[in-house]
Amino acid sequence: MNTLSLNIVTPNGSVYDREDVTLAVLQTTAGEIGVMYGHIPTVAALEIGYAKINFDGGSEYIAVSEGFVEVRQDKLSIIVQTAEPANEIDVARAELAKSRAESHLNNEEDSSDINRAKRALDRANNRLRVAQLQ
Ligand code: ATP
Repeated sequence: MNTLSLNIVTPNGSVYDREDVTLAVLQTTAGEIGVMYGHIPTVAALEIGYAKINFDGGSEYIAVSEGFVEVRQDKLSIIVQTAEPANEIDVARAELAKSRAESHLNNEEDSSDINRAKRALDRANNRLRVAQLQ
């Protein structure tokens, strides 16, 4: 069976790499897509969510924040602000980030700060959700 290579890149560099992906499920701004070898080339925007990576013998969830995916016939490139495999998520840190964002949301009046706090809350909630999927 033909497989895909997958690379996840963030501003800090490459954080995930494998050559044996049989199916990747991604959450794009237009809905969920599943990508296998031979998929039509495309580019899509990703939301805060997860990537589910299936390979022979297992699967893995990765929490991602906003970015893009580029799909080619045999290669998937995910370019996102942050990405953490479920088993590397620090749950205590995400709980703290969540409380901090909630307290900002309750106290901020400046709309740009409110938007920043909402995004921080989305990232924290996403990490907490994905940590449970492992
Ligand atoms: P925090 O306030 O805890 O830093 P944040 O949402 O502001 O949370 P980000 O700016 O999204 O953090 O990420 C900064 C870096 O820290 C990234 O490299 C990201 O992968 C990592 N990171 C953030 N939160 C966690 C977590 N709970 N577990 C593991 N890595 C994390």
